[in-house]
Amino acid sequence: MARRKLVYEGKAKILYEGPEPGTFVQYFKDDATAFNAEKKDVIEGKGVLNNRLSEFFMTGLAQIGIPTHFIKRLNMREQLIRQCEIIPLEVIVRNRAAGSIAKRLGMEEGTVLPRPIVEFSYKDDSLGDPLVPEEYIIAFGWASQQDLDDIIAMALRVNDFMSGLMCGVGITLVDFKIEIGRVWDGDYQRLIVADEISPDSCRLWDQKTGEKLDKDVFRRDLGDLADAYTEVARRLGVLPANVSNASKPTLVN
Ligand code: UDP
Repeated sequence: MARRKLVYEGKAKILYEGPEPGTFVQYFKDDATAFNAEKKDVIEGKGVLNNRLSEFFMTGLAQIGIPTHFIKRLNMREQLIRQCEIIPLEVIVRNRAAGSIAKRLGMEEGTVLPRPIVEFSYKDDSLGDPLVPEEYIIAFGWASQQDLDDIIAMALRVNDFMSGLMCGVGITLVDFKIEIGRVWDGDYQRLIVADEISPDSCRLWDQKTGEKLDKDVFRRDLGDLADAYTEVARRLGVLPANVSNASKPTLVN
């Protein structure tokens, strides 16, 4: 790792220069932050789980024709990704009311929305990532109307894919955030899903018990975050079912 040139360090990940032009190495840290980094901790193993889970989701998206920045996983904490120009928006898709929308509109958490809602926040920590209307995005040139139409269509496809995947393992996808990047093929621009998709950026509730299996466990002090993420990974088959015993020797008679 020390050999690699640091490009950018964020709250949960680090970007290093990749081995070839047009690539980066994305390193997943164990750091957890919430409330604009007012609450911080180190959760052992979180980075390893998010690296695996983001690989799993991005690979699945590519299989259904949604382009992503993911190229390949390199090791426990690192993946090779395609370099792209990140559009400075958090693209949020909601199926049920929770978090900021529940607060803003005085809705009870868990209320099913009339249809999936896509909204945008301007990515700026110093401003607390404010919610922005499409009008701002176009007027300030962060994305064009065509880009926005494509981003909304892509976000809804990601929602269908992720909802189906989660539903299959008894989990409700309440909401999630994605980030979108631009890549250039000659003069032709394409939009791709970038950053990460993991329980850090989704709300995941157990269908039967309502138990939270996402970063709200950390935000709201509901238990062990790594246990919750491990449960998601185990259900999806990303980790062996008996992961706690996976590395222990077994007695051979
Ligand atoms: N989200 C995220 N990063 C952010 C803000 C939100 O990944 O900086 C995710 C969050 O985990 C949730 C969804 O986007 O799954 C909607 O978040 P919300 O707007 O309700 O904000 P929050 O309650 O997290 O402040």
